[in-house]
Amino acid sequence: MAFDASAPYDATNIFARILRGELPCRKVYEDEFALAFHDINPQAPVHVLIVPKMPHVSLADFSANAPAAEIAGFFRAVGAVARQLGVEQDGYRILANTGAHAHPEVPHFHVHLFAGRPLGPMLVRH
Ligand code: AMP
Repeated sequence: MAFDASAPYDATNIFARILRGELPCRKVYEDEFALAFHDINPQAPVHVLIVPKMPHVSLADFSANAPAAEIAGFFRAVGAVARQLGVEQDGYRILANTGAHAHPEVPHFHVHLFAGRPLGPMLVRH
């Protein structure tokens, strides 16, 4: 699925429904800016999604259009989640799939946090 900063926000996407409490999640952290929960299909021993509460389609949309306080609050939440998970010492990786080459599945901006083992090379080598 490809989308861009100008794409309309689809309020029926799965993370919007989780944020509204219509679908369950395994919550890790919540504050006024973000909700974090375990990925349903983990790719590492720790795989948590951190989702801003406001409706932004992608990192392109979020970085261009979100108020500064929302951007700051969201990235503080990412750090807080890592601290709360206890992964700072051993290390972790964050990732945001944006645009066609990264093929994001859910059109609500989010970052993945991976941890719990050595994470190997940054990208699959072809
Ligand atoms: P992305 O490809 O970056 O959009 O990532 C979407 C992620 O959401 C994938 O890693 C999915 O496994 C995850 N996911 C999809 N539905 C759910 C759900 N209901 N609860 C938790 N994670 C989900």
